[in-house]
Amino acid sequence: MANVLWLQGGACSGNTMSFLNAEEPSVVDLVLDFGLNILWHPSLGVEIGAQVEELMNKCVSGETEMDIFVFEGSVIQAPDGTGNWNRFASRAMKDWVWDLAHAAKFVVAIGDCATWGGIPATAPNPSDSTGLQFLKRSHGGFLGADFVSKAGLPVINIPGCPAHPDWISQILVAIATGRAGDLALDDLQRPATFFTSFTQTGCTRNMHFAYKVSTTEFGQRKGCLFYDLGCRGPFTRSPCNRILWNRVSSKTRAGMPCIGCTEPEFPHHDLAPGTVFATPTTLGLPNEVPPGMSKRTYLTMVAAGKGSAPQWAKDDIFVV
Ligand code: SF4
Repeated sequence: MANVLWLQGGACSGNTMSFLNAEEPSVVDLVLDFGLNILWHPSLGVEIGAQVEELMNKCVSGETEMDIFVFEGSVIQAPDGTGNWNRFASRAMKDWVWDLAHAAKFVVAIGDCATWGGIPATAPNPSDSTGLQFLKRSHGGFLGADFVSKAGLPVINIPGCPAHPDWISQILVAIATGRAGDLALDDLQRPATFFTSFTQTGCTRNMHFAYKVSTTEFGQRKGCLFYDLGCRGPFTRSPCNRILWNRVSSKTRAGMPCIGCTEPEFPHHDLAPGTVFATPTTLGLPNEVPPGMSKRTYLTMVAAGKGSAPQWAKDDIFVV
């Protein structure tokens, strides 16, 4: 059995909502089949107020063994480093987070806010928010770059806004069943099994990307969303087109550009005007080209692709 304590900091509860929709395995499967014992969760726990504080104190002291500490939301440090903008029971949440992270065998950050600071940490960051072990791409965050939990691992980052429910539940299963040592983490401490390929991997619009046929309106069932709608699929490491949402779809399949929410820079360009749902260009050339490709190679690819695009690539592919 693995005891799990889940807390929220500067959060919208989006990752909790996502987690409650998990199917492979579901939350019920986690409890009944994989031995997860949820000590407390903001939406599932029945304890309130002083009862939760007593439980957390027992976790900190070691009286109650805490195998996995899950944190959702940013660590709020305002005002003036006190964290008083985000209090829980008798203390600032940031102080609970520090003590609980150091008492847990494993620490898991769920969602962009807990991993990199996310939207709350967007400039000018009035809440002085940070992620558990990163602030955007900078290693360190609230716990510091050298932090390791009692099991000897750094914070396991599962980003996304929100994270896909199955990414969360499958990582919890791996830890609960003693396979945490098999988890390869990338340089941003994300499980490599989910965050090595790109959102573009498996996208149904890949051929349109190659032929430089553009989607020009949200929801359009033809074209690629990169050229006119700012799709970040080529730059974003996520399995959104391999492990589908609700088992059936993804943003790009539905005609909505990937917004790059699993990367530390999200929201990209701090939401500056002209950068949302747009691919910034200079002299017609995107400022960013897909990783591993030079601008010269990119130019050659689109010139060749555009010139050879067949008629079907310009048509609605779902019309019979
Ligand atoms: S829609 Fe996005 S993810 Fe799909 S092929 Fe185009 S750029 Fe890549």
